[in-house]
Amino acid sequence: MGIDEIFEIVKHEKIKFIRLQFSDINGVLKNVEIPSNDLKRAFDKGIMFDGSSIEGFVRINESDMYLKPDPSTFAILPWTLEGQKSARIICDVYKHDGTPFEGDPRYRLKRVMNEAKEMGFIPHTGPEVEFFLLPRRDNRPVFEFLDEGGYFDLLPVDIAEHLRSEVAVMLEEMGIDVEATHHEVAPSQHEVDFRYSNALSSADAVQTVKLVIKTLAVKNELYATFMPKPFFGVNGSGMHVHLSLLTEDLKDNAFYDKEKDDISDTMRYFIGGLIKYARPITAITNPTVNSYKRLVPGYEAPVNVAWSLANRSALIRVPMARQMGTRLEYRAPDPSCNPYLAFSVLIKAGLEGIRKKIEPPMPVEKNIYRMDEEEKGNFGIKVLPENLKEAIDEMEKCDLIKEALGEHIFAKFIKMKRNEWKEYSMLVTEWERKRYEII
Ligand code: GLN
Ligand code: MG
Ligand code: MG
Ligand code: MG
Repeated sequence: MGIDEIFEIVKHEKIKFIRLQFSDINGVLKNVEIPSNDLKRAFDKGIMFDGSSIEGFVRINESDMYLKPDPSTFAILPWTLEGQKSARIICDVYKHDGTPFEGDPRYRLKRVMNEAKEMGFIPHTGPEVEFFLLPRRDNRPVFEFLDEGGYFDLLPVDIAEHLRSEVAVMLEEMGIDVEATHHEVAPSQHEVDFRYSNALSSADAVQTVKLVIKTLAVKNELYATFMPKPFFGVNGSGMHVHLSLLTEDLKDNAFYDKEKDDISDTMRYFIGGLIKYARPITAITNPTVNSYKRLVPGYEAPVNVAWSLANRSALIRVPMARQMGTRLEYRAPDPSCNPYLAFSVLIKAGLEGIRKKIEPPMPVEKNIYRMDEEEKGNFGIKVLPENLKEAIDEMEKCDLIKEALGEHIFAKFIKMKRNEWKEYSMLVTEWERKRYEII
């Protein structure tokens, strides 16, 4: 959408306020609201804000930063605030001297997208966002199930089903093509899938989808949580990412080999790169203490670093679809990740695989959960990190991830996550008291 068109719409729709949005290092959406009269200034010069108050951004002495709206992300918000219509635009973050801020997660993804483009590829992603809807009391979530539903269940028309269709309608209004919404395997768990697109707009869409779901949950006096494993004993919430590389004209899929009617060498090498870097990548795709309570056997979440043509116990699955639909599904990420950073490291690792022609191990068609250690060893199957500390240790050693994230985010992220881990590991839990009280 062009800038002139945006001014037209703002005038015609009587939009009073514009929300300028961006994401911090944790993927938390931030926004500042400006009156629509100021929109021209925002496009011309950018809107100044204090970067030192944003997690992972800058120190106080270098804190003047600028938001520059990306006109292609303009969307009218499908809800009103005090009866006033507003719109949002996602922004890029610039420094005082007019250069892009290297710690802006969206900028990192743009850089990786450019790298792909130089190799002749436009990465496309299609995330599947899972979440739990919980009761809300005094503005806090209550960790109890709202329903006893399961996968694809059709419940007697209940509040959650109603909410899911509202989510779909609102996302369509905001220009996001919803492919499916359904009840997920666990009680109170749901999923929203939207059409795959260019990885940058897809990461923007993840942020929008989460915002819409959270907003609608509040309006319905519920609480939506994207934490990866809110309940022991049932599935956690993942954010599987479908990934393909289209050619520059978007007419062909570089993952598909027409002659062989099969996956291409490019795709195989891409998988080779992902498998090689899967362990360090996990720190970014699964960035919380809680993430690792999901990555355990028995709950449809991956544990083993392997790929497969059908098998959902593997980290990477290649769905049956061929031609333009040829893609891989990377099943580790969870919705607590920063989608810009997650897509950056996944694409970066895949491109490295293509550049270095990294051969992946053989695909594994057997159920890996039923293999013993020896058999896994024969297939060369590694396991994903078991906790946040292990993941951060792996990431810290990985130059490729450093290059993808840039020094700024790389250092801030590690520092922040080490603190998070330390805080957690000092806690004394109910489990410990029960287990050790008789000692
Ligand atoms: N919730 C599962 C996970 O943690 C996935 C279940 C599914 O989509 N079939 O990844
Ligand atoms: Mg799904
Ligand atoms: Mg699912
Ligand atoms: Mg899936």
